[in-house]
Amino acid sequence: MKNKQAEDIFRNFLRAGKNRITPERFEVLEAALEYEGHFGADDLYILMKNFKSRVSRATVYKTLELLAQCDLLSKRNFGDNINRFESSFKRQIHDHLICVDCGKIIEFADPRIKQLPEEISEDLGFNFESYSFNIFARCKDPKKCKQSRER
Ligand SMILES: [Zn+2]
Ligand SMILES: [Zn+2]
Repeated sequence: MKNKQAEDIFRNFLRAGKNRITPERFEVLEAALEYEGHFGADDLYILMKNFKSRVSRATVYKTLELLAQCDLLSKRNFGDNINRFESSFKRQIHDHLICVDCGKIIEFADPRIKQLPEEISEDLGFNFESYSFNIFARCKDPKKCKQSRER
């Protein structure tokens, strides 16, 4: 198995929550961590089917939620009401800019954005937990905008 450390995190999480520990769940974990970029549950399910996996659609959906709960995946919503996931294992925290015309997603990390939610939480008398932040914009170059539709 490739991601021993991630597997240990997941196994401990499953055990702590009295969730069943099954080989299928670890199969989903591996596939999710290897997926490049952002994906919906169905994207991953179809990919796994193409690689002859016997994992069920329900297992993919359930396991992705569990992986998000233990922070191995980040759950994203880019304004179209589809839940997308991406690996957050050994990855830098980042935010997203989404082109509303072509759907292109650009990742960026800016320390100003990380700091602000913590400061606001403090000011309002809360302990900071997490935040979500998306920028919706339009490509300036219309040629590049239609070219790559990656979601
Ligand atoms: Zn991302
Ligand atoms: Zn665009």
